[in-house]
Amino acid sequence: MGKLHLEVVTPEKVMISQEVDIVVAPGSIGEFGVLEGHVPFLSGIVPGELRYSSANQTEHFVVTTGFAEVSDNRVSVLVDAAEKASEIDVERAQKARDRAEERLAKDRGSEDLDFIRAEAALKRAMLRIRVAEKKI
Ligand code: ATP
Repeated sequence: MGKLHLEVVTPEKVMISQEVDIVVAPGSIGEFGVLEGHVPFLSGIVPGELRYSSANQTEHFVVTTGFAEVSDNRVSVLVDAAEKASEIDVERAQKARDRAEERLAKDRGSEDLDFIRAEAALKRAMLRIRVAEKKI
């Protein structure tokens, strides 16, 4: 069925490599969808949900930071981390959320690097908790 080839790669592994019908990804200037015949383009990827449909089945993933290239009916996504919804460790994400919240409570108001890191960690943890609920 699929007319697009989707590849999602992290420094650790090839997370997805398969034919799909549609991909929706969190681009740096907003969510974008790709169908067969899409014009070539490049986009940054920000932490968010990536999903694809293939044979009427939708799979949900968390992706963090990276970029995507669309060209010749191929969608290539290179990101720091990616997890399938059903493989997310919710307890780990809850612990990461709690740690980040503690750090933010201590450093609230400051603009230092720890504060910025804690904010980003909190965002990733909340995202993982949210997307984990979408496991099939
Ligand atoms: P933690 O503090 O729990 O490590 P983090 O947000 O700092 O969370 P990342 O740096 O985004 O983690 O990811 C490091 C690696 O751990 C990546 O391979 C990522 O896919 C994986 N990972 C992080 N959190 C989870 C989770 N809750 N469930 C499954 N894999 C996870």
